[in-house]
Amino acid sequence: MGYLKTFISAGAFALTLCLAGTASAAPDLSVMSAGERIAFTKAMPKGGELHNHIAGAVFPETLLAWAAEDGRCIDVPKLALAPPPCEAEGLRPAAEAIIDGELYSDLLDSFSTRQPGFLDRSGHDQFFGVFDRISGLGSGRAGDMLAVVMDDLAHQNTFYLEAMITPQGGPAAALGLTVGLKNDLAQMKAELDAAGMPALVTAAIDATDAMEARARQVLACGTPAARPGCQVTVRYLVQTIRVLPPEATFAQLQLGVALVQADRRWVGLQMVAPEDHPTALANYSLHMEMVGFLTGRGQLAPVALHAGELTFDYAPPEHLRDHVAQAVRVAGARRIGHGVDLPHEMGAEALVAEMARKGVLVEVNLTSNAVILGLGPEDHPYAWLRDRGTPVSLSTDDAGLLRIDLSHEYERAHAYGASYADLKQSARNALAFSFLAGEGLWADPGRYRQPVTVCRGQIGEQAPRGACAALVQSSDKAREQWRHEALLARFEESVAAMGRR
Ligand SMILES: [Zn+2]
Repeated sequence: MGYLKTFISAGAFALTLCLAGTASAAPDLSVMSAGERIAFTKAMPKGGELHNHIAGAVFPETLLAWAAEDGRCIDVPKLALAPPPCEAEGLRPAAEAIIDGELYSDLLDSFSTRQPGFLDRSGHDQFFGVFDRISGLGSGRAGDMLAVVMDDLAHQNTFYLEAMITPQGGPAAALGLTVGLKNDLAQMKAELDAAGMPALVTAAIDATDAMEARARQVLACGTPAARPGCQVTVRYLVQTIRVLPPEATFAQLQLGVALVQADRRWVGLQMVAPEDHPTALANYSLHMEMVGFLTGRGQLAPVALHAGELTFDYAPPEHLRDHVAQAVRVAGARRIGHGVDLPHEMGAEALVAEMARKGVLVEVNLTSNAVILGLGPEDHPYAWLRDRGTPVSLSTDDAGLLRIDLSHEYERAHAYGASYADLKQSARNALAFSFLAGEGLWADPGRYRQPVTVCRGQIGEQAPRGACAALVQSSDKAREQWRHEALLARFEESVAAMGRR
């Protein structure tokens, strides 16, 4: 069977693991040394990643190497990438700049958050400014970026990615500006369709084909030299930009819904850019109304939203009262990115209980929250959400800019009180609460005590039998969950075997 081959090669990562001090079937993270915990979380199957911006996922060293290969320039005073020609004052060819040790190091600082207080910027400003400074790379490396992310996840024993990408973002925004903002959202939608929205959907599908073809080429998929990343299943979230004029954001959202309906690789909507930006704050309620309208509160297209990525440092109290509540109740979000303002929201306990009941998951990005918002273990709501049974899953947000990987976040979670059982649940949640199509393997997603009837007694085995095999064959979600459970079983066996030695 197809997946058997997948297990064998993917399982090789788990089987290389050797750990001391983890004799029981439930490893205790608190008795592990730092090195042991890092090795453990690196090898642990983490299911998938639900919050990953491809544009921020690649380390600056790689971006600079591509800039050099592509004949791009460095704007030295701005420490930014720029398009050719590199003749204007202050510009140097990237190929030349990267062999200048001091400049290279400054560029790595400029393109990441590794140097706290770099150029006297806050972590927040440094982080959000990077996207502008690397925009001079152009859009020609999308497939290369995807390949890097896929291969990196596979090397961490993780084989599902829900990647955030903005398809046809510029043309969609331009269409929105042409049509203009209307009070009647249905009228605005009709005018956008008449003004050329269907052509943008076609263009987005073509661009997705080209990006995936390039990623497969980079990874040598389908050849004897195929890299591990070829085994990663990828789906996409349409990331729309919340700091544009609202009619431009609306057009991006409308394109997103149409794309999700037209192409099974695109599975949901997102909204990104700083939530504390004045435009984003001013239009927050309007945005939630737009998403709710266009998606039929999540019925026509699944919705995940950055919401509540706020603290008092970045917004006044009135904005910390209901952003997550609006995302869940007005926009119909099934997942919340960050949600760190949740304890501040009105009726917070009732809200997280409602999220637990409805199965609304919070995508938790610990390093991102620490670097951008200054939230550490002492004031982060992660432990509270776990206690209340609100589903959570760990993710990187922007691994390249933050200079981390998914395993790093699993290791870091220990400092926030997470046990191995919590990490295991985070990994399973990454598939159960993904927007993959089809029925899942679990009757109780978020708890994982009861497999669906047809798969009882089989979870963790190499290959499914009978009606369970039919489910795994016909459902994207069940297939990924089956693969994860098999990897998990092997991982736990290898850990137990190490402990017995
Ligand atoms: Zn994000």
